[in-house]
Amino acid sequence: MLEDHWLDAARRVMSPNANARPVGEISAVVLHGISLPPGKFGTDAIERLFTNTLDPAGHPFFAEIATLRVSAHLLIRRDGEVVQFVPFDRRAWHAGRSVWHDGQCRREGLNDFTIGIELEGTDETPYRASQYAALAAVLIALRGAYPAITPPRLTGHAHIAPLRKTDPGPAFDWAYLHRRLTDFV
Ligand SMILES: [Zn+2]
Repeated sequence: MLEDHWLDAARRVMSPNANARPVGEISAVVLHGISLPPGKFGTDAIERLFTNTLDPAGHPFFAEIATLRVSAHLLIRRDGEVVQFVPFDRRAWHAGRSVWHDGQCRREGLNDFTIGIELEGTDETPYRASQYAALAAVLIALRGAYPAITPPRLTGHAHIAPLRKTDPGPAFDWAYLHRRLTDFV
């Protein structure tokens, strides 16, 4: 399932927006939601954003974000296709300023030790069964490769950056995901 920190089932699109993890820890997952332009599905704009090739003239919103240098390890599209941009042993740039209570420990800078997974969607549009199925398969594969990633160590962008971010939003059904992860524990 994983080879040299790449998912063999994922389509690979290399993002330059990555660097070394400071201590090599890979111990949690941050889920996100994204659509570009907002509310539009099936475009190539997310891949373009993560590869610094988004045309700022393509849409008014693109002009605001085209110079961002961001990425995630994975994108799960509406049809369940999985795209990988960054190998898991490298640090992708998805969480931004962020804080997490890891047991007794308050930790910042979640990019350092998390895997970032984007789901194509919006906060209010139900995510598709094909996406939950793909996500569950990915999480099971990740747990196999990085045993520290247990179900309680799945979080969302809104949870770790609550004043800035709302994704993956109320549309994301955490209970449904956890039911699909019975093989995961
Ligand atoms: Zn996010």
